[in-house]
Amino acid sequence: MPQCFHLDADGRRCPEEAEDGQAFCLWHEAASGLRPPLVEAGVARRLFRLAALILLALFLVPLLVQGYRVLRALVN
Ligand SMILES: [Zn+2]
Repeated sequence: MPQCFHLDADGRRCPEEAEDGQAFCLWHEAASGLRPPLVEAGVARRLFRLAALILLALFLVPLLVQGYRVLRALVN
C-alpha cells in the first residue's frame, strides 16, 4: 500500500500507510476533507467553553458565598 500523503508541521511525511484507493491514512483522511473538521472544531470549541464555564463557576461560587458571608458579618 502507498504511504500517506499527509505532511506534518516539519514537512515530514506521515509514516502510516494510506487506505486502499485513498491518498491519506485512517487518521488524516478526515483532515483532507472540508466539512467534517470544521463541524468537529465547532463542537470541540463549544465543549471547551462549557468546561471552562463549569470550572469558572466551581471556583467562583464558593468565593462569592464566602464574600457574602464576610460582608454580612461586617454589616451585622
Ligand atoms: Zn497519515
